[in-house]
Amino acid sequence: MTIEAIERRVAQAIEDAGRAKDSVTLIAVSKVQPLDRLRHVLDSGHRVFGENKVQEAQGKWPDLRADFPDVTLHLLGPLQTNKARAAVTLFDAIHTVDRLKLVTTLARLAQERGQCPELFIQVNTGAEPQKAGILPQDADSLIAAARAEDLPVRGLMCIPPADEDPVSHFTLLREIAARNDVSDLSMGMSSDFETAIAQGATHVRVGSAIFGERVPV
Ligand SMILES: *Cc1c(COP(=O)(O)O)cnc(C)c1O
Repeated sequence: MTIEAIERRVAQAIEDAGRAKDSVTLIAVSKVQPLDRLRHVLDSGHRVFGENKVQEAQGKWPDLRADFPDVTLHLLGPLQTNKARAAVTLFDAIHTVDRLKLVTTLARLAQERGQCPELFIQVNTGAEPQKAGILPQDADSLIAAARAEDLPVRGLMCIPPADEDPVSHFTLLREIAARNDVSDLSMGMSSDFETAIAQGATHVRVGSAIFGERVPV
Protein backbone atom coordinates (compact mmCIF):
# COMPACT_ATOMS: atom_id res chain seq x y z
CA MET A 1 0.00 0.00 0.00
CA THR A 2 1.02 3.59 -0.36
CA ILE A 3 1.98 5.65 2.66
CA GLU A 4 -1.13 7.74 1.97
CA ALA A 5 -3.36 4.67 2.20
CA ILE A 6 -1.78 3.67 5.52
CA GLU A 7 -2.16 7.22 6.83
CA ARG A 8 -5.85 7.06 5.93
CA ARG A 9 -6.25 3.74 7.76
CA VAL A 10 -4.50 5.18 10.82
CA ALA A 11 -6.79 8.23 10.74
CA GLN A 12 -9.86 6.01 10.41
CA ALA A 13 -8.78 3.81 13.33
CA ILE A 14 -8.25 6.93 15.46
CA GLU A 15 -11.72 8.16 14.58
CA ASP A 16 -13.31 4.75 15.22
CA ALA A 17 -11.68 4.70 18.64
CA GLY A 18 -13.04 8.16 19.40
CA ARG A 19 -9.54 9.47 20.03
CA ALA A 20 -7.98 12.86 19.28
CA LYS A 21 -6.79 13.41 15.71
CA ASP A 22 -3.07 13.72 16.38
CA SER A 23 -2.89 11.16 19.16
CA VAL A 24 -1.03 8.53 17.09
CA THR A 25 2.36 8.81 15.40
CA LEU A 26 2.88 6.59 12.36
CA ILE A 27 6.48 5.36 12.27
CA ALA A 28 7.43 4.13 8.79
CA VAL A 29 9.81 1.22 9.41
CA SER A 30 12.39 1.45 6.65
CA LYS A 31 14.86 -1.25 7.73
CA VAL A 32 16.32 -3.29 4.87
CA GLN A 33 14.38 -1.32 2.24
CA PRO A 34 15.98 -0.04 -0.96
CA LEU A 35 16.80 3.67 -0.93
CA ASP A 36 14.46 4.50 -3.81
CA ARG A 37 11.44 3.24 -1.82
CA LEU A 38 12.57 5.34 1.10
CA ARG A 39 13.01 8.46 -0.97
CA HIS A 40 9.58 7.91 -2.45
CA VAL A 41 7.99 7.97 1.03
CA LEU A 42 10.08 11.04 1.96
CA ASP A 43 8.98 12.80 -1.23
CA SER A 44 5.36 12.15 -0.28
CA GLY A 45 5.96 14.23 2.84
CA HIS A 46 6.23 11.60 5.58
CA ARG A 47 8.93 12.43 8.11
CA VAL A 48 8.88 9.83 10.91
CA PHE A 49 10.93 6.69 10.34
CA GLY A 50 12.08 3.64 12.28
CA GLU A 51 15.19 1.52 11.91
CA ASN A 52 16.31 -1.67 13.63
CA LYS A 53 20.06 -1.44 13.48
CA VAL A 54 22.33 1.41 14.44
CA GLN A 55 24.91 0.57 11.81
CA GLU A 56 22.40 0.26 8.98
CA ALA A 57 20.84 3.59 9.95
CA GLN A 58 24.25 5.25 10.11
CA GLY A 59 24.83 4.12 6.54
CA LYS A 60 21.83 5.86 5.02
CA TRP A 61 20.27 8.52 7.24
CA PRO A 62 23.02 11.16 7.45
CA ASP A 63 22.76 11.62 3.65
CA LEU A 64 18.96 11.50 3.60
CA ARG A 65 18.78 13.96 6.48
CA ALA A 66 20.89 16.44 4.54
CA ASP A 67 17.96 16.57 2.08
CA PHE A 68 15.18 16.16 4.68
CA PRO A 69 16.43 17.84 7.88
CA ASP A 70 13.05 17.61 9.64
CA VAL A 71 13.06 13.79 9.73
CA THR A 72 12.71 12.15 13.14
CA LEU A 73 14.27 8.75 13.58
CA HIS A 74 13.23 5.98 16.00
CA LEU A 75 15.43 3.02 16.96
CA LEU A 76 13.27 -0.12 17.16
CA GLY A 77 15.84 -2.92 17.37
CA PRO A 78 17.93 -4.23 20.29
CA LEU A 79 20.66 -1.85 21.45
CA GLN A 80 24.04 -3.06 22.66
CA THR A 81 25.71 -0.77 25.16
CA ASN A 82 28.76 -0.39 22.92
CA LYS A 83 26.49 1.14 20.25
CA ALA A 84 24.67 3.43 22.69
CA ARG A 85 26.77 6.50 21.93
CA ALA A 86 26.17 6.16 18.19
CA ALA A 87 22.48 5.55 18.86
CA VAL A 88 21.91 8.67 20.98
CA THR A 89 23.76 10.72 18.38
CA LEU A 90 21.59 9.53 15.49
CA PHE A 91 18.15 8.76 16.93
CA ASP A 92 15.42 11.01 18.32
CA ALA A 93 13.79 8.11 20.18
CA ILE A 94 14.89 4.68 21.40
CA HIS A 95 12.13 2.08 21.86
CA THR A 96 14.23 -0.77 23.16
CA VAL A 97 15.49 0.14 26.63
CA ASP A 98 15.17 -3.18 28.45
CA ARG A 99 17.85 -3.58 31.10
CA LEU A 100 19.57 -1.74 33.88
CA LYS A 101 22.99 -1.71 32.23
CA LEU A 102 21.56 0.12 29.23
CA VAL A 103 19.78 2.59 31.53
CA THR A 104 23.06 3.33 33.29
CA THR A 105 24.90 3.79 30.00
CA LEU A 106 22.21 6.07 28.58
CA ALA A 107 22.20 8.11 31.80
CA ARG A 108 25.94 8.66 31.57
CA LEU A 109 25.64 9.74 27.93
CA ALA A 110 22.71 12.04 28.73
CA GLN A 111 24.69 13.71 31.46
CA GLU A 112 27.69 14.15 29.24
CA ARG A 113 25.70 15.48 26.27
CA GLY A 114 23.10 17.48 28.18
CA GLN A 115 20.36 15.83 26.13
CA CYS A 116 18.78 12.44 25.56
CA PRO A 117 16.48 10.88 22.98
CA GLU A 118 12.95 10.05 24.14
CA LEU A 119 13.04 6.62 25.71
CA PHE A 120 10.60 3.73 25.58
CA ILE A 121 10.99 0.73 27.87
CA GLN A 122 10.53 -2.49 25.90
CA VAL A 123 8.41 -5.06 27.76
CA ASN A 124 8.50 -8.74 26.80
CA THR A 125 4.76 -9.13 27.37
CA GLY A 126 4.75 -12.75 26.22
CA ALA A 127 7.77 -13.63 28.39
CA GLU A 128 9.33 -15.27 25.35
CA PRO A 129 12.84 -16.51 26.19
CA GLN A 130 14.34 -15.57 22.81
CA LYS A 131 12.84 -12.09 22.76
CA ALA A 132 14.29 -8.82 24.04
CA GLY A 133 12.45 -6.72 26.60
CA ILE A 134 12.12 -6.59 30.36
CA LEU A 135 9.73 -9.14 31.89
CA PRO A 136 6.35 -7.65 32.84
CA GLN A 137 6.94 -8.24 36.56
CA ASP A 138 10.25 -6.36 36.40
CA ALA A 139 9.01 -3.39 34.36
CA ASP A 140 8.03 -1.15 37.30
CA SER A 141 11.50 -1.29 38.80
CA LEU A 142 13.25 -0.60 35.48
CA ILE A 143 11.00 2.41 34.87
CA ALA A 144 11.79 3.64 38.39
CA ALA A 145 15.51 3.12 37.81
CA ALA A 146 15.42 5.14 34.60
CA ARG A 147 13.53 7.95 36.30
CA ALA A 148 15.92 7.91 39.22
CA GLU A 149 18.63 8.66 36.64
CA ASP A 150 16.53 11.58 35.32
CA LEU A 151 16.01 9.84 32.00
CA PRO A 152 12.96 10.83 29.93
CA VAL A 153 10.69 7.76 29.99
CA ARG A 154 8.27 8.68 27.24
CA GLY A 155 6.58 5.32 26.82
CA LEU A 156 6.50 1.55 26.78
CA MET A 157 6.93 -0.71 23.76
CA CYS A 158 6.00 -4.34 23.04
CA ILE A 159 6.17 -6.90 20.25
CA PRO A 160 3.48 -9.53 20.95
CA PRO A 161 4.22 -13.20 20.16
CA ALA A 162 3.65 -13.76 16.44
CA ASP A 163 1.13 -16.58 16.91
CA GLU A 164 -1.10 -14.98 19.55
CA ASP A 165 -3.96 -12.53 19.60
CA PRO A 166 -2.17 -9.25 20.33
CA VAL A 167 -5.02 -7.69 22.34
CA SER A 168 -4.07 -9.18 25.73
CA HIS A 169 -0.47 -8.00 25.17
CA PHE A 170 -1.57 -4.48 24.24
CA THR A 171 -3.79 -4.45 27.33
CA LEU A 172 -0.98 -5.61 29.59
CA LEU A 173 1.32 -2.90 28.22
CA ARG A 174 -1.37 -0.27 28.78
CA GLU A 175 -1.86 -1.44 32.38
CA ILE A 176 1.86 -1.29 33.16
CA ALA A 177 1.98 2.22 31.67
CA ALA A 178 -1.07 3.38 33.64
CA ARG A 179 0.19 2.23 37.02
CA ASN A 180 3.56 3.90 36.36
CA ASP A 181 2.14 7.11 34.94
CA VAL A 182 3.82 6.56 31.58
CA SER A 183 1.99 8.37 28.79
CA ASP A 184 2.92 6.70 25.52
CA LEU A 185 2.49 3.23 24.04
CA SER A 186 4.54 1.97 21.09
CA MET A 187 2.57 -1.03 19.83
CA GLY A 188 1.08 -2.28 16.59
CA MET A 189 2.77 -3.30 13.33
CA SER A 190 1.57 -3.96 9.76
CA SER A 191 -0.78 -6.77 10.74
CA ASP A 192 -2.36 -5.23 13.82
CA PHE A 193 -1.89 -1.45 13.97
CA GLU A 194 -5.62 -0.74 13.86
CA THR A 195 -6.19 -3.08 16.82
CA ALA A 196 -3.33 -1.36 18.64
CA ILE A 197 -4.87 2.07 18.04
CA ALA A 198 -8.17 0.81 19.45
CA GLN A 199 -6.19 -0.32 22.52
CA GLY A 200 -4.50 3.05 23.04
CA ALA A 201 -1.30 2.97 20.96
CA THR A 202 0.35 6.38 20.56
CA HIS A 203 3.05 5.08 18.19
CA VAL A 204 2.46 2.40 15.55
CA ARG A 205 5.43 0.87 13.73
CA VAL A 206 4.51 -0.09 10.19
CA GLY A 207 7.02 -1.53 7.74
CA SER A 208 5.97 -4.04 5.11
CA ALA A 209 2.45 -2.63 4.67
CA ILE A 210 4.05 0.63 3.47
CA PHE A 211 7.20 -0.50 1.72
CA GLY A 212 6.25 -3.95 0.55
CA GLU A 213 8.00 -7.10 1.66
CA ARG A 214 11.50 -6.52 2.94
CA VAL A 215 14.12 -7.36 0.35
CA PRO A 216 16.70 -9.64 1.97
CA VAL A 217 20.24 -8.23 1.90
C1 LIG B 1 10.31 -4.69 11.55
C2 LIG B 1 9.64 -4.15 12.74
C3 LIG B 1 8.40 -3.51 12.63
C4 LIG B 1 7.62 -3.43 11.34
O1 LIG B 1 7.16 -4.70 11.01
P1 LIG B 1 6.07 -4.91 9.82
O2 LIG B 1 5.40 -6.17 10.18
O3 LIG B 1 6.85 -4.96 8.57
O4 LIG B 1 5.15 -3.75 9.87
C5 LIG B 1 7.87 -2.95 13.78
N1 LIG B 1 8.50 -3.01 14.96
C6 LIG B 1 9.70 -3.62 15.10
C7 LIG B 1 10.34 -3.67 16.44
C8 LIG B 1 10.28 -4.22 14.00
O5 LIG B 1 11.46 -4.85 14.16
